[in-house]
Amino acid sequence: MAEKVIRKRSSPTGRPNLRDYERECARFDWGKASEQLSGLPGGAGLNIAHEAVDRHVAQGRGGHVALRCVRREGGATSVSYLDLARWTNQFAGVLRRLGVEREERVFTLLGRCPELYVTALGTLKNLSVFCPLFSAFGPEPVEQRLRLGDARVLVTTEALYRRKVAASRDGLPQLEHVLIVGPRAADLPGTMGFEQMVDAAPQTFTIPPTDPEAMALLHFTSGTTGTPKGAVHVHQAVVAHHVTAGYALDLHPDDVYWCTADPGWVTGTSYGIIAPLTHGVTVVVDEGDFDTRRWYRILADERVSVWYTAPTAVRMLMRATPRGGPYDLPRSFDLSALRFIASVGEPLNPQAVVWGDEVLGLPVHDNWWQTETGCIMIANFAACDIRPGSMGRPLPGVKAAVLQQGPDGRAAVVDGKVTVVERPGVDGELALRPGWPSMFRGYLHDRQRYDASFADGWYLTGDLVREDADGYFWFVGRADDVIKSAGHLIGPFEVESALMEHPAVAEAGVIGKPDEVAGTIVKAFVSLKPGHVADGALENELLAFARRRLGPAVAPREIAFDQNLPKTRSGKVMRRLLRARELGLPEGDISTLETAGLVGSGAESEGSR
Ligand code: ATP
Ligand code: MG
Repeated sequence: MAEKVIRKRSSPTGRPNLRDYERECARFDWGKASEQLSGLPGGAGLNIAHEAVDRHVAQGRGGHVALRCVRREGGATSVSYLDLARWTNQFAGVLRRLGVEREERVFTLLGRCPELYVTALGTLKNLSVFCPLFSAFGPEPVEQRLRLGDARVLVTTEALYRRKVAASRDGLPQLEHVLIVGPRAADLPGTMGFEQMVDAAPQTFTIPPTDPEAMALLHFTSGTTGTPKGAVHVHQAVVAHHVTAGYALDLHPDDVYWCTADPGWVTGTSYGIIAPLTHGVTVVVDEGDFDTRRWYRILADERVSVWYTAPTAVRMLMRATPRGGPYDLPRSFDLSALRFIASVGEPLNPQAVVWGDEVLGLPVHDNWWQTETGCIMIANFAACDIRPGSMGRPLPGVKAAVLQQGPDGRAAVVDGKVTVVERPGVDGELALRPGWPSMFRGYLHDRQRYDASFADGWYLTGDLVREDADGYFWFVGRADDVIKSAGHLIGPFEVESALMEHPAVAEAGVIGKPDEVAGTIVKAFVSLKPGHVADGALENELLAFARRRLGPAVAPREIAFDQNLPKTRSGKVMRRLLRARELGLPEGDISTLETAGLVGSGAESEGSR
């Protein structure tokens, strides 16, 4: 564990956000939070799109900019809350005209563009279910998810449709309507123009009475550990999106907020669309790809105040401007509006937090959650000290525990009972007490898998953590990735973070490799920063470096250099793939493998118009 603590003197917004953490936790109540958001007893009638858009218009903020759309080629346009209310009404009207019913699925295969927002929110107004896909998926994973999710409508671009859907269309009879965003060739059978359809629809739409328990969102997990699962979320999830964005992202109506997550990943919806809009902020919608200079420019030009991104993105910025200087690149941009950077998706190495503090003068706030939880569960907060390497503390309203492990590393369940670890510093499976509004209500068509996620009244996350004496949680690894070597359980994250402290290492992925003598040894795959040569001398240096930091029982025994560590589109190192390749095993489901080398950005080139 890193010992450095980054102290905060006050909340950057001057508000005592979570200063008194215990008091805030003790008084928090989801029922009250629902009533506050909806203004109705028991949170009755909560509809995600109403809370995100129409509510602001009703409250006289219709003129405020909702979306600030930054084009790939430069330049930006604004969409006000009133514009967005009308536009989403029109899309809801299109669905109604097409006869698309409640709970029927509307999919997107789009980069980040305004039409994505219109589709998502218009779908929710019509009480249909929104399901986004990665635009970088190949034809097979697209088809698999359209089928698994019973897609009735798909909104995409012509290029994406031709390359990824057209060939499988005949085998998807339930996919009745395909709407094409942007230019559409006249000879594209079985499709309609998004713009024409929307333009012809009325600008008013009355949202039908909404059951807060009605299915609203379908999100496929990242597929890091295997076949993706379709997690189902309901309308009242919006309460959790709203509340957690207040605590963990410290959003206020004057904020300019930018979330770089790919729209196909759960963060792209929960915190790329819904949560920020419920706070009435201005959301930056960037259609372009990742590029360090471009990102700094957007942060500066748009005066972004809260930035939500992923560890890989922070590591890319680190790679471009290592600690020790010179810091010319970030200093050539005016980042004075930015209060902090928040990060999610995979472990945020302590070096990244220290780098943000030293190089940008900004706090980097790690937070933890899953597709299944629907919203942030554990986080660093605006006014709380940061312990680099820790995910932070559970949000008010979230009851988290560390459960005693069984021999396979996961929670030991004996006669249906689990044991909560009371002592600090002990590794165990992270468990959450169900009851928050965005908790998933099932894996689509897979009841058994859903049931298997619970024991003794807890939801079992599959992640291993430890809690320190002050209630900060520390990520150890996914239970499936944990390495058992010579009687020790080794978390890959700890080994990867130690390697990243070496000045030559950009990123690392660590696996267990069977060994005749030791049973399993630790093997590390390492990518290097520019200017370093992958040779035997560096390999020996890294092995010795890791041994000094971690001790011989935990340090890697083998190191391989790999400039292209396999990652999911959401930016996670796919350790299971490293392991499969190392052992010559089948690669399994690699539909979410990132191939473009660009992570966390809007979409690959053909993904947007
Ligand atoms: P699948 O469930 O299909 O294997 P996945 O678990 O990667 O894929 P997601 O729901 O997108 O799918 O990711 C959630 C997981 O990401 C968490 O369970 C955890 O392993 C990891 N994660 C998310 N945030 C953090 C974080 N701040 N620190 C460490 N790990 C994180
Ligand atoms: Mg998972």
